[in-house]
Amino acid sequence: MDLAAYGWNEAWKAAFAAHAGEGLEPARVICELRRKYYAVQTAAGERLGECIGRLFHETVSTALFPAVGDWVAVRVRPDGTRADIHAVLPRRTVFSRRAAGEQDIEQVVAANVDTVLLVAGLDLNYNPARIQRFLVAARESGAEPVIVLNKADLHPDPAAVRAEIERLVPGVTVFVTSTTTRLGLKALSAYARPGQTLALVGSSGVGKSTLINRLAKEQALPTGEVRAKDSKGRHTTTRRELVLTPSGALVIDTPGMRELQLWDAAEGVEAAFADVAALAVRCRFSDCQHATEPGCAVRAAIEAGTLPPERLTAYRKLKATEAAELRRRDKAAESLSRAQWKKIHQGQRARRQFEQEP
Ligand code: GDP
Ligand code: ZN
Repeated sequence: MDLAAYGWNEAWKAAFAAHAGEGLEPARVICELRRKYYAVQTAAGERLGECIGRLFHETVSTALFPAVGDWVAVRVRPDGTRADIHAVLPRRTVFSRRAAGEQDIEQVVAANVDTVLLVAGLDLNYNPARIQRFLVAARESGAEPVIVLNKADLHPDPAAVRAEIERLVPGVTVFVTSTTTRLGLKALSAYARPGQTLALVGSSGVGKSTLINRLAKEQALPTGEVRAKDSKGRHTTTRRELVLTPSGALVIDTPGMRELQLWDAAEGVEAAFADVAALAVRCRFSDCQHATEPGCAVRAAIEAGTLPPERLTAYRKLKATEAAELRRRDKAAESLSRAQWKKIHQGQRARRQFEQEP
């Protein structure tokens, strides 16, 4: 197996030089099995990777631990099945989230994603403000943003929506697709270049899984499962989270990436606090802050002992953080004029055309 299929290139080789000198070999993280254990792709095939050394001590920031998509430096053990992970190469792009908890813990959800596809369903109202927020977040991650308008079969005039988005964010690539009629699927898979790493984000139900299956199924390639031995020698089977598609592009599909609410923080909070949200709809006032308002169903549940008070505290805290985050992104989006957006995307397009030259 050639690592180039997994995105290995001259630039990564240069970044790896010091490790090569130490007799380590490169590998790409395919999925996290559990803390410190990973399935990694080496030139000789898949191995069970284990983080070793001080670098991966519990007290060190979790952001330094390998994540799906990372390139790592490994030494394969003499028995041939295990690989010790010694280092993580500096990331080109990073998607991370802050875990809700006592402290703000940054968790890397995916690393080295080249292109992030925002999938929207044309059966629902799409929201231009969300799309702009998404573009800001994508830019911050370092990945190139692309918009996919799926379920075109359910919309009377998909071309009009596309034109509207293209006016809003000039130069961003927009695909109109339908997994039912197969509209736009060829164009989408042709867009994905060999060795390029893609990730899909978007609300639940917009068709991300179906699109990934279609992209992976143009030929029957195993999108398969990873089998690896855990520390006690038992076989564990895990879903592959970095999938090689027939077009040669790689797709990162992890629950963390799916849950990443790049476009609407509020949606993320509501999803993580479904219990609180379900109660809040029964509050007398629709803008209830669950503080001193009469008829508050959330406080009633706490008093009745059916909702732990910490849930409300955590919910409030996350909501405040996310509201601040949204304000920051909206400001960033505002400060980018139409002309600036255009320049950014012209640059991206030029780079893409350059890379596509034979
Ligand atoms: P995900 O939650 O984003 O992964 O969405 P899924 O891939 O699970 O799709 C949600 C539902 O939408 C499923 O019932 C799909 O069959 C359906 N679906 C996906 N793509 C299309 C499409 O292009 N047109 C229509 N009409 N339905 C679609
Ligand atoms: Zn309330």
